Amino acid sequence: MNDILPQQSPAWQQVEAVLRQVAASYGYEEIRMPIVESTDLFKRSIGEVTDIVEKEMYTFDDRNGDSLTLRPEGTASCVRAGNEHGLLYNQTQRLWYMGPMFRHERPQKGRYRQFHQFGLEAFGLPDADIDAEIILLTARLWREFGIADQVELQLNSLASNEARATYRDALRTYLSQHEEVLDEDSKRRLQSNPLRILDSKNPDMQAILVNAPQLSEYWDDESREHFSQLCKRLDTAGIKYTLNERLVRGLDYYNRTVFEWVTTELGAQGTVCAGGRYDGLVEQLGGKATPAVGFAMGLERLVLLLESQNKIKSQASADVYVALMGEAAELAGVDVAERLRSELPNVRVLMHCGGGNMKKQMKKADKSGAAVAVIIGDSELENSSYTVKPLRDQTGQKSVSWQQLVEYLTATIAEKS
Ligand code: ATP
Ligand code: MG
Repeated sequence: MNDILPQQSPAWQQVEAVLRQVAASYGYEEIRMPIVESTDLFKRSIGEVTDIVEKEMYTFDDRNGDSLTLRPEGTASCVRAGNEHGLLYNQTQRLWYMGPMFRHERPQKGRYRQFHQFGLEAFGLPDADIDAEIILLTARLWREFGIADQVELQLNSLASNEARATYRDALRTYLSQHEEVLDEDSKRRLQSNPLRILDSKNPDMQAILVNAPQLSEYWDDESREHFSQLCKRLDTAGIKYTLNERLVRGLDYYNRTVFEWVTTELGAQGTVCAGGRYDGLVEQLGGKATPAVGFAMGLERLVLLLESQNKIKSQASADVYVALMGEAAELAGVDVAERLRSELPNVRVLMHCGGGNMKKQMKKADKSGAAVAVIIGDSELENSSYTVKPLRDQTGQKSVSWQQLVEYLTATIAEKS
């Protein structure tokens, strides 16, 4: 579990700002759920035989003896909240959320025990138009972040529950013929959840799968049509994708469309965004049958990717440093700094605290990253003037009036940011 330090928070703030802005521009509304839920919610939704439920959840009994779990993902909570508050009943909803998730995994680059997701869910819409919409939304995010060339869209259809069940049997029959060479995980999954073997990262398993039956051979007609409608829309929008028949996703609730955006820039943890359709989940969790589709994006991986591509604008903590020479200036300075903040709300004004000579104050000003120092001393107080000293170029300092100071800071800082 990581601390996000002041040096890193500008990157996070930039990422979060773009996510909020783009989600809003598609008409999605924010929902905030608690970070703990009853354990049962995740078991029922994500599925008993999944990595998450089998070995990754932070589960504990509270003081009443109720089993609670730190949320490992947001979809289950979002559906629970939607059902509980009647948001999903006979209506459509476009929702997003952002926040920490918890999984007890082996920490490594791009994989942590507390990590953050941005998630987005659309409810009540059965057709491929909404699947296309959310994929277009993610594609816009990559363009906004300037990483469109670093991510690739993989797509699959898990078809209907019936089609998938038939395929599951066929896959199980095939894999049973190779049971002696299956690894431990796959042996265990052979009976309980053979589809999970498809996305095994073990190269030996992948080799066995080369001749396995393909899911697309088992697609039902309606799912095939749904998938083709999605592809048509992506083609029209100029979104490139590859069909990956092994893409099954690690959670039980998906049907039809599943997708991942992957990058080769982060090593093994290459999936930055993953999602799909889950038409059965709302009903399964006690609501009225409601089609749904959504995705979750790992923010740590996104930040890592942006850093690797130098897409994070580094940010100083201040724009203007107010230096105060002498006791009278220290008193007057409080008011000057306050007036600057009122006049120029987008300019970050750092007021020197703790006294000291000019050299010491200028050192601090420099370290703050501010572009300009405003110096106030006895002679400035006497003349009602302000000394402006650019800190990042050699233009030299000058004495100005209040009006000129505001105009100068507006032109050099406020209008540039
Ligand atoms: P993976 O195959 O990497 O384990 P997953 O299938 O478990 O991913 P999802 O449950 O679909 O992942 O979560 C969606 C996204 O959340 C992932 O694509 C990834 O970007 C991010 N994510 C998942 N687990 C972690 C983690 N432990 N640390 C950081 N990010 C994570
Ligand atoms: Mg995982």
